[in-house]
Amino acid sequence: MESVAPAAAVIVAIDGPSGTGKSSTSKAVAAQLGLRYLDTGAQYRAITWWMVHHGVDVTDPAAVAAAAGKPEIVSGTDPAAPTIAVDGTDVAGPIRTPEVTAKVSAVSAVPEVRTRITELQRSIAAAGGIVVEGRDIGTTVLPDADLKVFLTASPQARAERRSGELKGSDVKATQEALVKRDAADSSRKTSPLAKAADAIEVDTTDLTLAQVIECVVTLVQEKRGGEVLVDGERAGR
Ligand code: C5P
Repeated sequence: MESVAPAAAVIVAIDGPSGTGKSSTSKAVAAQLGLRYLDTGAQYRAITWWMVHHGVDVTDPAAVAAAAGKPEIVSGTDPAAPTIAVDGTDVAGPIRTPEVTAKVSAVSAVPEVRTRITELQRSIAAAGGIVVEGRDIGTTVLPDADLKVFLTASPQARAERRSGELKGSDVKATQEALVKRDAADSSRKTSPLAKAADAIEVDTTDLTLAQVIECVVTLVQEKRGGEVLVDGERAGR
């Protein structure tokens, strides 16, 4: 009889645009299943923060590319207390400012930045037992992930959730900023925001966070029970 993978072996990719509940869902799923958690958006925000902090013109792709290898980015993967540091400085707060949010799409579109951050993500995920959230995880970073989920929601629902997180910010302005960022992320040449062909799409517009978490936990458990083997090979191959 074939043995089923311990939770430690499972790799889950959760992609989708901003405001679909990716972070809350990914953290909760990881915590419930005893997996690690990686917020790849935080890594792109961290490198963007470093560029701004060091006076790099983020509208100049050549300048961004030349600096892409310089910052040392370290992600802590405990879902109960994820961390992000650049050159030893905790940047969890500064990476969420409107300035970084407005500039991150330009920085993340630069191929040298993507190569650098993708390598980092793959080295963190290599040991398995992890939920990785982002935009290109199922398509580019971890195409062999055991489970790929693509979260969606209407632009209005996404803006309302983001405005709630950013306490009191204007829903219309938030929606415009989100739509603009998604358009930039979806249209860039290198690994754009996209649903992998084998990803399961979950429309979260009319679901509560608890329902989305339950849905993804069930999908992971189905995968673990049905297909994933201890050595990483899949049943039937
Ligand atoms: O998820 P979050 O909103 O923090 O992501 C910030 C930005 O990082 C995105 O708008 C996108 O430009 C970039 N990103 C990316 N690829 C990922 C994750 C995030 O390009 N896998």
